[in-house]
Amino acid sequence: MRTPVMAGNWKMYKTPAETTAFFEKFRPLVEKSEHCEIVICPPFANLGAAVDAVKGTRVCVGAQNIAWDREGAFTGEVSGPMLVAVGATHAIVGHSERRQYFGETDETVLQRTEAALEAGLTPIVCVGERLEDREHGATKTVLTAQFTRGIAGLTVDQFAKIVIAYEPVWAIGTGKTATPEMAAEAHRMIRGQVWAKYGSGPATSVRILYGGSVKPDNVKSLMAQPEIDGVLVGGASLDPVGFASIVNF
Ligand code: PEP
Repeated sequence: MRTPVMAGNWKMYKTPAETTAFFEKFRPLVEKSEHCEIVICPPFANLGAAVDAVKGTRVCVGAQNIAWDREGAFTGEVSGPMLVAVGATHAIVGHSERRQYFGETDETVLQRTEAALEAGLTPIVCVGERLEDREHGATKTVLTAQFTRGIAGLTVDQFAKIVIAYEPVWAIGTGKTATPEMAAEAHRMIRGQVWAKYGSGPATSVRILYGGSVKPDNVKSLMAQPEIDGVLVGGASLDPVGFASIVNF
């Protein structure tokens, strides 16, 4: 019912030449992968090379962040219209590394999400609890707060165009994956928030991805959970053969 989204977040890895080389290997491996949407999010500097490399394929290119304004004195930021001009179609918003190291808050996540939508990009909005939150039994409280202060500021029409990624911070880049059951439970919590705010239609149709140490050998069990509508993959998306096997789980 919900088309899965298999997304790769390259973080701060690869040059434009390495990007081109990745797609040379990756393209033929996913040319028949029509069961899902495929999105690769390279660093800003590689967006052009990625867009050139995916021309004529079903693979989409996304940014890892987006400015909350169209233009202005915001050194180091890249705006929605600029991303669209270069050929991007998606933007990750509120990744935990942005929240942890660059002062991203639920409020700026909302602003950036709105900017992505205004530019016509699909935002992949990340939420997720830290290890100490989970250990203190605060997972639901944290997810609720992130949803209420961030995503829930969208109108129902805006909400219909976003993808949510549940990424427990303790599972990102650590090799510790949430069990499929833990991930599904968190997805149900998030879907419950969506239901309470936007009603049953949006709660049924929104795609919620899981992210956190997804690898070729654990993707199948995660995707077997009906609650999990795709994955957001960091480290394992850097290898074309490995990421293609995740896409083709
Ligand atoms: C990520 O960067 O969104 C991520 C989930 O990283 P990793 O797969 O490396 O844990």
